[in-house]
This record gives sequence, structure tokens and C-alpha cells, in this order.
Amino acid sequence: MEKITIAIDGYSSCGKSTLAKEIARELNYIYIDSGAMYRAVTLHLMNKGIIKDHAFIEEQALQQLANIDIDFHFDSQTEKSETLLNGVNVEKEIRSSIVSREVSAVSALKEVREKLVDLQQKLGQKGGVVMDGRDIGTVVFPNAEIKLFMTASNNIRAERRYKELIEKGENISKNDVGADLARRDHIDMTREISPLSKATDAIEIDNSNLTREEQLDLALKYINEKIELAKN
Ligand code: C5P
Repeated sequence: MEKITIAIDGYSSCGKSTLAKEIARELNYIYIDSGAMYRAVTLHLMNKGIIKDHAFIEEQALQQLANIDIDFHFDSQTEKSETLLNGVNVEKEIRSSIVSREVSAVSALKEVREKLVDLQQKLGQKGGVVMDGRDIGTVVFPNAEIKLFMTASNNIRAERRYKELIEKGENISKNDVGADLARRDHIDMTREISPLSKATDAIEIDNSNLTREEQLDLALKYINEKIELAKN
């Protein structure tokens, strides 16, 4: 059967990765979390002391790029993909709110994007891939057979993210979570290079009032139509 490329973009905490993972499992495709790559670069810069007091010197950050190797490892026991930064599993650390706070500024750097887009394109070159992010349908895979653009109300997104962080043991207020999401969306949408935007041929899914199952069914309906088309 023809394996297609599935691009999923959208705002922060819209459930993109949940949906992408479920689609990949359903179709036996590879799931690639492009946000994890930007988070790993950010963590590296934090570990090196280059990001300090919510700021960094661009030149110092860019000098580090050659020292950053990002890879993914699939843990067959947990059935989860884990992010490796220079060979070290950083899956948990990159999800913290401390990394979330800094990541959008790092993601706005042209050289960072060039390095990661190149890696993303290599990982997805054979098709059979579901990738989620902010510029997958517009820049990474502009020819993807199907592009989904996820949205959800600000309140619902903040609530979901807040729950996630509290479950992980973080001590954070819902207001702070909401403010961080809004700030990240703003930086992602207004940056000069590949800003977050809906590709003209993307299908929008607002999942504010959808269950996980309903969202998956809807996405699979669109995807299966494209797979049928790709066969002809
Ligand atoms: O998807 P996630 O929330 O983990 O992404 C973290 C950040 O990485 C985003 O807020 C954005 O700044 C950046 N990102 C990006 N382009 C992508 C994926 C993520 O700029 N394709």
C-alpha cells in the first residue's frame, strides 16, 4: 500500500502530538515530534549556561549548533518514542515548563531552523510519516499528501496543559500556563522565518469539543480519502 506523508500543525497544546501518535499507530507509520527537536536544542543551550535570565547571545547559541546531535529511540516496552540529545535520553527534561518558556526564542533563529528542517526532511524522506509541529505543512513537507491544522479554544488548551504539568509534579498556576501558551503562540506566529501559519491546503480541525476518539476518527476519515487517491 502506498505510504503517504501526514503533516500536522497548530498552536501549542492543541493535542497535535496525541493525535499524531494515534494516527501513526493506526496506520503503522513513523511518528516524528519536531517540537522535541527544538526543545532539545533549547535544553542544550540551557545546560551550557548560554540561556541565562531568559536571554542569550545569538552568536554563542549558534556556535553550539555543530555540537548538537538529536536522535529518537523507540522504547518497545513503553511503546514511546524518546528524544536523545547527544546520546542522552532527555525526554522528560525537554517537556518541563522551564524549557517551554525558552523554546520559542530559540526556534526563531534561522540557523536552528535550517539544521532541524534538514533533519526532519531526512527522517521523513521515505514517506509513511506523521510529523507534528508549526511549519510542517508550509515548509518541511509542502507536498505532504495531507495537512491537518489543529485548533482549540485558549481556555481548553490552558486547562489541558495545566493538568499535564500538575500530573508531572510541577508546581505551576493555571494563569502562568495560559500566559506561557499565549506568549509562545505569539512568538511562533510573528517570527520572521517560517512562522506558524495554516497551509492553504490544510484541513482545520477544532478539537475543543471533540473526544480523543472523535478527533482520531475524523482525522482518519480525511487521511483514508487521501490514501485512496494516492493509490490511483
Ligand atoms: O510542539 P511543541 O510545543 O513541543 O513545540 C515547542 C516549540 O518548538 C514551539 O512553541 C515552537 O517555538 C517550536 N517549534 C517550531 N517549529 C516546529 C515545532 C516546534 O518552531 N515545527
